[in-house]
Amino acid sequence: MHIFNDIVGQEKAISFLENILEHGTASHAYLFTGPDGVGKRTTAVSVAAALNCAQGGCGSCAVCMKIKNGAHPDVESIKPAGNSLKIEQIREIGQSIGLKPFEGKRKVYIIEDAHLMTVEAANALLKNLEEPPAYAAFILTAAGADSLLPTIRSRCQEVVFRAVPPRVIQSVLLAAGAEDDAAEIATALSGGSVGKAKRLVIGGAAGDIRAIILDRAAEISEGSIIDVFAAKDALLPLAKEKDKGDGSSIEAEALAILGSWYRDLIVLRETGNESLLINKDRASQLTLAAERISSANAAAALDILARAGDALRTNANKDLVLEEALLAINCMPPTVARLEG
Ligand SMILES: [Zn+2]
Repeated sequence: MHIFNDIVGQEKAISFLENILEHGTASHAYLFTGPDGVGKRTTAVSVAAALNCAQGGCGSCAVCMKIKNGAHPDVESIKPAGNSLKIEQIREIGQSIGLKPFEGKRKVYIIEDAHLMTVEAANALLKNLEEPPAYAAFILTAAGADSLLPTIRSRCQEVVFRAVPPRVIQSVLLAAGAEDDAAEIATALSGGSVGKAKRLVIGGAAGDIRAIILDRAAEISEGSIIDVFAAKDALLPLAKEKDKGDGSSIEAEALAILGSWYRDLIVLRETGNESLLINKDRASQLTLAAERISSANAAAALDILARAGDALRTNANKDLVLEEALLAINCMPPTVARLEG
């Protein structure tokens, strides 16, 4: 089906969906799980188009275009308002679901980041999932199935999306005209997300986040608390560019990029081999910083960042999670290297 042509590296999920769509056996609720930015949302929109397109998902007719552009009255995307999906948002579904589709065949509700539903919202959704009208379909997206109430999970069929393999991402970037080095760096930082890798190469918010964080990376561990807040404030103007549609947050990207910095420091200290760096374009800056941090402290920083990454999934206040992680790194005891120096 042409409608799925843009989705890279999810062959298993797509062939499963194509199969049920072709046979007209789509159930009324699906749960797409997988890491941020691997195509869950794009696929959900494509399924909505396939359910409504007269050709079963041609990708180019007026119906498909309208759905892709978010302008179709029968396809509704519900995403977290602020840091959670609230009951008022789910109640709106309850109000509209009883009305037959305005112009399409199916009414499709796409609920993004469903793991951010409050308990009240989840219970309200449950009522809609229990006995939906035949024309209604739900597609929920979430990082993992276990972050949802079992009662919600049991009413949805799960479709698993995986991190896209690095070689696939790299080939997409090279095909889009990226230089070898840039493609390699972006792939390493992408966390398996084609969308994020593309944005790192083409610039935009992801490229800016990388520049902001790496410019200040040394200060975050070596500087004062003022430097930590300055680094965080520098990210603020990007907040409005947030939510480019692949579900990744500025905070998550900042943590991942800082993680690549400490990973590179460990590599430099343990091997001295610049060709193994992720941030090859920052080799000289990394070499200086590597002299001032012990491998143990760099590993401790990685640990802090990993735990913060986990906390982002469940914690409503992403900004606070990032701040705590940066402060924890800043407050680590002086390194052996620093004491010796
Ligand atoms: Zn179409």
